[in-house]
Amino acid sequence: MPKRWVIAQIKHETNTFSPLATPWEAFGHGSGPRLGKDAAAALAGTNSPFAAFLDVARSEGVEAVTPIAAESWPSYLASRETFERLVRPVEAAVRAGCDAVLLDLHGAMVVEGSDDAEGELLRRIRAIAPQVPVAVTFDYHTNLSPEIAANANVITGYKTYPHVDMYEAGRLAADILARWLRGEVEPVLAWGWLPLIPSIMRHAPEDGPSGEIVALAREAERSGRVLAATLLPAFAHADTPYTGCSAVVVGDARRGGREAAQSVCDEMLAIAWARRAEYVFRAKPLAESVSEAKRIGDAGAAGPVLLIDHCDNCGSGGAQDVMKVVEEILKQGLEDVAIAPIRDPDAVAKMAEAGVGANVTLALGGKTDMPLVGLKGRPITVSGKVRTITDGEIVFRGPMYTGVKSHLGRSAVLDTGRAQIVVTERPHEPFDLVIFRHCGIEPTAKRFLMLKSRIHYRAGFKPIAAAIVECQGEGVTTADLSVFPYRKLRRPIYPLDPL
Ligand SMILES: [Zn+2]
Repeated sequence: MPKRWVIAQIKHETNTFSPLATPWEAFGHGSGPRLGKDAAAALAGTNSPFAAFLDVARSEGVEAVTPIAAESWPSYLASRETFERLVRPVEAAVRAGCDAVLLDLHGAMVVEGSDDAEGELLRRIRAIAPQVPVAVTFDYHTNLSPEIAANANVITGYKTYPHVDMYEAGRLAADILARWLRGEVEPVLAWGWLPLIPSIMRHAPEDGPSGEIVALAREAERSGRVLAATLLPAFAHADTPYTGCSAVVVGDARRGGREAAQSVCDEMLAIAWARRAEYVFRAKPLAESVSEAKRIGDAGAAGPVLLIDHCDNCGSGGAQDVMKVVEEILKQGLEDVAIAPIRDPDAVAKMAEAGVGANVTLALGGKTDMPLVGLKGRPITVSGKVRTITDGEIVFRGPMYTGVKSHLGRSAVLDTGRAQIVVTERPHEPFDLVIFRHCGIEPTAKRFLMLKSRIHYRAGFKPIAAAIVECQGEGVTTADLSVFPYRKLRRPIYPLDPL
């Protein structure tokens, strides 16, 4: 009998304060989950853990069974019914018999009835196949729970932010699993958790304490002290008892790995705790930031100046239609600006109806109330010419999600003279230049680019930017954690409480 590995992806970063729903169709980045052979076809050869699992299965000569590939943009919790539809194909594949399970998960998924959807998934797999080896990859923004750690044998995660090492993380997990199955190693997990929520605006290894911690993790892997070491600096916008900074390390039990794994884990978390004050993000007033960007751009910067609207980032559950930063940019009269993307299906429909070349006046954006953080949607009135209308079908060519297809829905460009605004039907974080290029805007030629993103924009846009200015708008991804009415978070926790 040929050996069989079950390879599956169920991925959602759940912002429990988000106004956006998460139906079945939201998975597959808006085209619905891929099932069976379609799952493998959609992700083979891409920069994803799933693709790495497929490659290692092939090189090990085992059959890859791929029940589902499902990733949604971050948003509110999925219903129990949607979650069951996602999990059932995985359970059926495990029940049919397999030699290993490899899961490409996010690690901050909350669903109706569970604050820890990944923990539930792993527990249910264990209930079907108590002895089967299970390897998991997580996003950097994971909230690690005891149930996850108790039910997985190998855990790895991304070491980069923007996440450009997704394949690498998958490769590491699958290689450890393969070596285990060949009898070369015996994985053992150590993990730890801190009462600390590092600001996502300070998560990137190039910015703060994460750099030192990730360097320690890489050195521990390179030297053979442990098999894998992963920092998971939390997803702050999921209100769960597990939300907090953690680390997880895989040692080789045959070579004293249990102790080594625990001490590497402790060393990583000790750095995070000692440098916790550096994980706090302090924003400037919006008007000040926009005028600073204007000054730099108007002085003749050698490339676009980026204005980062980080409080309404759909890549973390933002509505992506909060107009506060756009309004300030228009008010201060910045010239030669491109903005992407504003999610507004009504505006797209009106522009499509008017047609390319038509002049329109729209109530743009601001259609979404955000009751869980006490905000009401507020559109702004904008006049301009409809420049372009596209079907919004894109393929990433930059370093993040390279080769993966995505779906903006119909998209239209509104040109106000000073600003070209990309308006889309669906949410999408701008981390790849394709977000402008697919609708005829050359981002490198603009003086200013406004992006609804926090850190991932850096993957595609940092190399072309002359300067970057973070702009404090508003929304459900604000860096000001005091805005969120947490109920389940374990307290005390830094920096919400003095620790
Ligand atoms: Zn992430």
